[in-house]
Amino acid sequence: MAPALPSPPPLFTSTSQQDQPSSSSSPEQFSPPSSILIVGSGIFGLSTAWALARRDAFTQCTITVVDRCDPSNPDAFPAPDAASVDTSRIVRADYADKAYAALGAEAQVQWRKQAQPTDLGAEGRYHESGLLLVADSGPVRVPGEIVAKSDMTGMDYVRLSWANVLSLASDNPELASSIRELPDVAAIRERLGTGGSSGSWGYINEGSGWADAAASTKWLFDRVNEAGRVTFVSGTVSSLEHRGPTVTGAKLTDGRVLSAELVVLAAGAWTGGLVDLSGQATATGQVLGYLDLTEAEQEQLNDMPVVLNLTNGLFIIPPRNRVLKVARHAYGYLNPTLPETARLPSTSSPADQPISYPLTQLSDPSLSIPQEGVDDLRRALKQMVPLPGLVDRPFSKTRLCWYSDTPTGDFLITYHPQYKGLFVATGDSGHGFKFMPVLGEKIADCIMHNCPLEFVGKWSWKPDANVVITEDGSRGGKPGLLLANELGRTN
Ligand SMILES: Cc1cc2nc3c(=O)[nH]c(=O)nc-3n(C[C@H](O)[C@H](O)[C@H](O)COP(=O)(O)OP(=O)(O)OC[C@H]3O[C@@H](n4cnc5c(N)ncnc54)[C@H](O)[C@@H]3O)c2cc1C
Repeated sequence: MAPALPSPPPLFTSTSQQDQPSSSSSPEQFSPPSSILIVGSGIFGLSTAWALARRDAFTQCTITVVDRCDPSNPDAFPAPDAASVDTSRIVRADYADKAYAALGAEAQVQWRKQAQPTDLGAEGRYHESGLLLVADSGPVRVPGEIVAKSDMTGMDYVRLSWANVLSLASDNPELASSIRELPDVAAIRERLGTGGSSGSWGYINEGSGWADAAASTKWLFDRVNEAGRVTFVSGTVSSLEHRGPTVTGAKLTDGRVLSAELVVLAAGAWTGGLVDLSGQATATGQVLGYLDLTEAEQEQLNDMPVVLNLTNGLFIIPPRNRVLKVARHAYGYLNPTLPETARLPSTSSPADQPISYPLTQLSDPSLSIPQEGVDDLRRALKQMVPLPGLVDRPFSKTRLCWYSDTPTGDFLITYHPQYKGLFVATGDSGHGFKFMPVLGEKIADCIMHNCPLEFVGKWSWKPDANVVITEDGSRGGKPGLLLANELGRTN
């Protein structure tokens, strides 16, 4: 007899949970452009190029991808400071929002493919280690209560996520039985298996895991090349070319101009340097630390799952090749700057106004992470992986990695409201990587005026707001920290 399935908790509802808009994006007439220029070869840009290259509608269209890193140099491409390049990224359907949960499940089908070396999940690109999602205690919700997305706590997020993954697994008893409630600290400690614990309630989803981000982005690059339709250009876009309200291409810092009928801006956290994104998205810096382990420590931690606490944002990915990664999904640091790139003229914000803009070790090799971040990463180690000698071991490497954050944590995938010939594909909000195998298809749908119904509204250009602070119940740290101030502090 099939094992009894755990029943989804009868819960409150978040505004992110409620039924999606019934209005459709009623496909406008779409006529494919003769040329498309994609700026940025992270997973937003590359997956778009891959999808367009495979669509019949674009067979007569030239597709070019430009990135500030050189695709002919394997050591410099993909860009080492791009968000899409790292040792690991969590792959999960565990979302408080039903639409992203379903999209995550769609992507997982591809991540799990490992039979052939060219399958996405093969050659160590995907590891189904399990994901332990936890939170610290939060306000008690009553069944039927409606909680605004912006008021959600980490605990709200974890509870809704639990309900969503159980619902997604409702017709698959094997999958459903791999999702188990961990009702207290002791149960969390037992499954974590490191001697540590985190949070007061959570669940384990053995069907989630993590991907080798650098290797997977390289895999995607190979697929795009294989399609034989895409030209890669190495160069930094200094500004977009436009004739009045129509974008006609991009100018590079070396003076070259790349003309195109449609420009797709997918420059990640750097996008705001080329177009005014005030109120839509902002760059926030997130801290990462890497620790070298001994062989014995690696072995001891071989079976640990990914652990993510959505109250404080701290997470640890199981070690590989004797390297342990600890990080924080936080409000992040703002870095007000006047970028060297120029923004398109905009009525809502003058071009000489500073914006938060990425600062990475590529432009400043001496860059370290603020002490405030170091302290939090050490707190994660102490709680989650308290092996002797580990908490105080110096990091072998630290990194500031940049999100393109939106107020709701939804992506920004839409035509620009004022400029013709300009499409924006960014606003990853620190959770885009897992969608890599399916994202480009959705972006291509949006380009063809056919946004998936469940994302209509979520991915659109929003009425202007002044400040972007991502409130989706998943962030740790404090909002509004300035990078320069934090780097200046010694304790
Ligand atoms: C610390 C951290 C942890 C994360 N963890 C997870 C996770 O666990 N799971 C998950 O799903 N997601 C995670 N994410 C989010 C995920 O990595 C991003 O959503 C995704 O990689 C964003 O891709 P992108 O293409 O938008 O940006 P990027 O990968 O940053 O790509 C932008 C590209 O644009 C190029 N570019 C920029 N400016 C210019 C210019 N002027 N001219 C030419 N080229 C330019 C850059 O060189 C770069 O290649 C994490 C992100 C970070 C930073």
